[in-house]
Amino acid sequence: MRIILIGPPGAGKGTQCERLVNFLRVPHLSTGEMLRAAIAQETAEGKEASTYMQAGQLVPDQLVLGLVTRRLKDQDCRGGCLLDGFPRTINQAEMLDDLLERQAMSVDGVIELSVPQEELVRRMLARKREDDSPEVFARRIESFERQTAPLLEYYKLQGKLRSVNGMGSADDIFDRVRQAIRAFRRAKR
Ligand code: ADP
Repeated sequence: MRIILIGPPGAGKGTQCERLVNFLRVPHLSTGEMLRAAIAQETAEGKEASTYMQAGQLVPDQLVLGLVTRRLKDQDCRGGCLLDGFPRTINQAEMLDDLLERQAMSVDGVIELSVPQEELVRRMLARKREDDSPEVFARRIESFERQTAPLLEYYKLQGKLRSVNGMGSADDIFDRVRQAIRAFRRAKR
């Protein structure tokens, strides 16, 4: 299965992605991780990306698309994958649809992890990451609302979106995620 997990920063996407890749037995494609790896390896892509990331802004679509396109060609992605952090804009979603279509593939389902904004701020204050100063975090939330939230409508119109309540224990949330996967499987048959 080819699944996309969408959620604002602090929604608990990382935890749910980890469980979901074990459950589905597919590779985890996180563009955030790919970009951090590119920065660590000091590649040209990494150098270009880091200025945007430090400012809490999205990296240009073409750069991210290049990383994803290359990764999707790997053998282990043939049976499916979990996309995390990509697509993040309507433009990226359209580019992904084109890319998959050319390989006679498609997105099977999109899961939205839904968490109220006050809770996101509370969680952010409780954790610490280098790009997580309150100002940068606020900008990442704002960028989610402005650029990524419209994607939900895009996939809703395709009949592929399931919204999952992201409040509660990780186990409870994962139960809901599995229900969404069951619905995608039924739709696929
Ligand atoms: P979060 O979901 O908490 O923002 P990520 O690890 O997914 O964290 O992303 C970290 C940063 O990497 C983002 O703030 C953005 O600058 C960049 N990034 C990741 N994925 C994308 C993408 N699909 N398009 C553009 N920028 C991206």
